[in-house]
Amino acid sequence: MVAIDEKLEGVYATVLHRSPGELEFHQAVREVFESLGLVVAKNPSYLAEGLLERICEPERQIIFRVPWTDDKGQVHVNRGFRVEFNSALGPYKGGLRFHPSVNLGIIKFLGFEQIFKNSLTGMPIGGGKGGSDFDPKGRSEGEIMRFCQSFMTELYRHLGEHTDVPAGDIGVGGREIGYMFGQYKRITNRYEAGVLTGKGIAWGGSLVRTEATGYGATFFVKEMLETRGDAMEGKKVVVSGAGNVAIYTVEKVQQLGGKVIAMSDSGGCLVDQDGIDLALIKDIKNNRRERISQYAKERTGAHHYAEGSIWSVPCDIAMPSATQNELTGRDAAILIRNGVKAVGEGANMPSTPEAIRLFLEAKVLFGPGKAANAGGVATSALEMQQNASRDSWTFETTEKRLSEIMRNIHSSCANMADEYGAPGNYVLGANIAGFKRVADAMRALGVV
Ligand code: GLU
Repeated sequence: MVAIDEKLEGVYATVLHRSPGELEFHQAVREVFESLGLVVAKNPSYLAEGLLERICEPERQIIFRVPWTDDKGQVHVNRGFRVEFNSALGPYKGGLRFHPSVNLGIIKFLGFEQIFKNSLTGMPIGGGKGGSDFDPKGRSEGEIMRFCQSFMTELYRHLGEHTDVPAGDIGVGGREIGYMFGQYKRITNRYEAGVLTGKGIAWGGSLVRTEATGYGATFFVKEMLETRGDAMEGKKVVVSGAGNVAIYTVEKVQQLGGKVIAMSDSGGCLVDQDGIDLALIKDIKNNRRERISQYAKERTGAHHYAEGSIWSVPCDIAMPSATQNELTGRDAAILIRNGVKAVGEGANMPSTPEAIRLFLEAKVLFGPGKAANAGGVATSALEMQQNASRDSWTFETTEKRLSEIMRNIHSSCANMADEYGAPGNYVLGANIAGFKRVADAMRALGVV
């Protein structure tokens, strides 16, 4: 483990003491603190003014009961969360995750990361996150709709286009956003498009929002490769996951001339050395809502492995796009041994601290999630802009804006890493650049 500066130890001890057992939250805070030693040495006022302490304490945490009835008339109770972490730069902004693993610690780690990610986009958005331990797997349309309505029946009172603007995350896509927006509109009697992002195109959504996280992560990797005079063309790429982020990562990698040879889901990993047929994956996942193992049944030459790690498939570029801590130190060692050149995190905190350390030591280009996957939330901010001006932009305009934002995020991280004497260290660069913008805004707003 990398040491944290002794001046930050006291604040970190308070975090551990106040939030016992929230391991992912501790991990996310620690990773940022590991980068801030030199920053507080140069600017001791960040500590003196309690900015570190304030940034680790959510402004507000909402926990609520979500009761709903299944198709057989059986009553279920889930727990809902919204952690409104930081509003120094704009309304709380961040997704909702519906997954059985959700608990307060998970939502807090995601909300904490979101503050810095949103800051890095340069856009006027604060940080928040929410969700529920509801498991959508195997649930009917009607059950999903009733759950979303019950969830919003409590959450609506905390939201508003200038207050808190949720979006999707794992288990929450266009369908769920639709049901939640419908319920919000019904309760408030307001067509307030800017209260949720990731909406359908016919009712206030933005083109490119669906593709944005995967496209953005790929643009970020392209920028990193260019610093070494390299390109995506001809690279072998492994993308974990098979959700929205993974699918549109594959799409952009292929458009840029790379070859994706493996994907995965919770049932195992799929390898197709001829290059993944994305149309088939989209049909299996989006239309048929089946597992990716189905692909191997329909394509000769493709193999599905129920056991083993996707990271043992030799590749030039790894793009973890499934979930937190999916890429361990062991996986990183294997990737490095197999000659990996770049890693771009499409998911939030997918690499463990040990994996990150190994990548940095081996001088692998490593794009941390809070920079590399910021394209999703940045395009949400573009959706908010379109809603505010009652306008809608073309696909080309919006994608161009996204690629410029990713280029800017890349250069802020790279410049900050240079300034702090660690060229090429995007983890340090992202944490410092993200932190400074928020902390300076908080300072200007006084002790609130
Ligand atoms: N859930 C996404 C993220 O992790 C998107 C959030 C948003 O669009 O508000 O950044």
